[in-house]
Order: sequence, then C-alpha cells, then structure tokens
Amino acid sequence: MKVTDHINQSGNKTLLSFEILPPLKGKGIQSLYQHLDPLMEFKPSFINVTYHRSEHTFKKRADGRFEKVVIRKRPGTESICAAIMNKYNVDTVPHLICGGFSVNETEDALINLNYLGIDNVLVLRGDAAKNESAFEAEPDGHAYAIDLLQQVTNLNAGIYLEEDLKNTTRTRFCIGVAGYPEKHFEAPNMESDLRYLKAKVDAGADYIVTQMFFDNKKYFAFVKACRDMGIEVPIIPGLKPIYTKKQLTTLPKTFHIDLPSDLSEAIQHCKTDDEVEKVGTEWLLQQSVELKKAGVPVLHYYTLGRPHIVANVVKDLV
Ligand code: FAD
Repeated sequence: MKVTDHINQSGNKTLLSFEILPPLKGKGIQSLYQHLDPLMEFKPSFINVTYHRSEHTFKKRADGRFEKVVIRKRPGTESICAAIMNKYNVDTVPHLICGGFSVNETEDALINLNYLGIDNVLVLRGDAAKNESAFEAEPDGHAYAIDLLQQVTNLNAGIYLEEDLKNTTRTRFCIGVAGYPEKHFEAPNMESDLRYLKAKVDAGADYIVTQMFFDNKKYFAFVKACRDMGIEVPIIPGLKPIYTKKQLTTLPKTFHIDLPSDLSEAIQHCKTDDEVEKVGTEWLLQQSVELKKAGVPVLHYYTLGRPHIVANVVKDLV
C-alpha cells in the first residue's frame, strides 16, 4: 500500500514509521530482525530502508603496488524491503539514489521493486562519494533527485528507456522526496532550496520527509514556508534520538543541522552516556508529543542502532 493511502485512510490520526539501515555486510538479516522486533508491536505504517552506495579504497598489494578495491558496506536495500514485507506484513519504502547509478541500472532496480510488490520509493540524489569533494553524477546517471523522480513518473506512465516497447506495464510507485527545514547544505539560501523542492513536487512527488531536526519551531516554519509557496503534499517530520555526547558535534557536521542550546547544555552536563540517553529520550518524547498535537501525518523515526530509545518514546505516545 502507498504511503499516501496510509495517510489518507488514517482519519487524521498521526501514524508511525521507522527508518533502518541495511546490516553491515557479513552480519546477516537476523541482526536487522532483532532491531525491528521491539518496534513492530507499535504497528508502524511503513518501514524505510536506506541505500548506501559503494566506496572505493586503495589496498597495497604484496608487490608494493596499489590496487583499487570497491567496498560495499551495506548492500541489499531492495531485498531487505521484500524480506521485511514478507516477515512482518508491513509496507516498506526503499531509498533510491542517483549517485553510482546509470539510468539503466535505475530502471532495473525499479522493475525489481515493482515485481516484489513494493509500492513506494524515496528518491534522493545521494551525497558525494568519499573520494569526491562534491557530488558527481555518473556519466549516464542522474544529477538531481528530480531527474530520478522523472524516471519513476515515466515508468508509472508506462514509459521505459527502450522507446520501442509496446503495451508496457505501468508501475504504481508512490514517490517521496527529501526536504530540509534547516536548508540543504549546498543551497545558497532557503528560497532557492524551497524552489527546487517545489519543482520536485510539481514533477510528481507525493510527499516529503524531512531531514532530522531538534527544534520543532524549525519544522513548523518549514511547513508554513512550503504551504505559502503552494506545496500541498504531506510533510513528514524525521526525528532522531540523541544518546552520546559525541553527537553534539557529529550531527551538526554530518547533517548540517543545529542543536538547540537547551538540549546541548543539558547534554554537556551529563556525566555518563546513560544520562545523555535519558536527556535525549525525554527531548525526543517532548518533540513527538508536540508534533502529534499539531496533527502531523506521520512521526518518522531514524532508529539507527537505538530501537529501544524509539520504543520508549512511542510507547508513551500510542
Ligand atoms: P536534490 O533534491 O537533488 O537537491 C540537492 C541540492 O541541489 C540542494 O541544495 C537543492 O537545493 C539543489 N537542487 C535541486 N535541484 C536542482 C536543480 N535542478 N538545479 C540546481 N540545483 C538543484 N542519502 C543516501 O545516500 N542514502 C539514503 O538512503 C538517504 N536517505 C535520506 C533520507 C532523508 C529523509 C533525507 C533528508 C536525506 C537522505 N539522504 C540519503 C541524504 C541525501 O542523499 C543528501 O542530503 C543529498 O545531499 C541531497 O539529496 P536530495 O534528494 O535532497 O537532492
């Protein structure tokens, strides 16, 4: 079932969704089930599975020369989606990125997802590869999320890359895109970022999921700015627990977001990670309560390795 059908059929109730990463290569899918098991009792409407492109490194060979080696740390997004649907009978949303994909590989991935009965995709550009200073599209790949989105809307209209194909099957993907309450880090300003977001919606995006934020005021201002410029699709807030002091620097650096001073000071005063987790859990709960009260369509949690924190928050919400 599509994410938008879940929202339309919710009777204005705030739904839950969780986001997970594929396990590290070599770990096996049981580790992922152990992560999800404690969360499934809260009956999420859908589970997002992130996509991680391959990286490459140079390994020194016995003869002293260097060999380029491709490393794919977290493969399996599409098959994990199918496995989760099969095990828990829940809808899934695979993330699909431009980076590292040719348009033909993207088409194959979409065809596979369609065969697997997956109705949703979150389309993203992806970040620069570790060895690039800025994002570089593949020579025959997409440069922006909107280009990937257009490929999906084409397939939804039965238009495949091979123009000669006749009587084609139309896919029926519900398409999500990313939005940034604190601006995407490459955008020169918020106006420009919002214009490109509107272009994604005008090109067929069905809903938006936001980058994580820790100050609800930023989400509310973002939603207002979107509505003011005519973006009418659901805007799903993305939320993440904080549980270590180190995140005070890693989260702003990695995700280009601010942490409110009340939160950062409370965490600075903590003596142990257990104390940080307590502060972070309470913060996430208060954020969630306020967002739910404001009638957000879905609370989307980045569970990343800490399912018990998210479980502790949502148990007090439902
Ligand atoms: P775009 O919408 O293409 O925007 C990228 C930048 O270009 C923005 O600054 C935008 O303002 C600008 N822009 C957009 N269109 C144009 C245009 N036509 N011309 C000029 N400028 C333009 N990354 C992963 O690798 N895997 C994941 O699973 C993943 N999941 C994510 C989930 C969410 C909810 C979010 C918020 C991010 C996720 N990311 C993921 C990170 C994402 O790939 C990066 O933030 C990336 O840098 C931007 O992706 P985008 O889809 O927003 O890009």
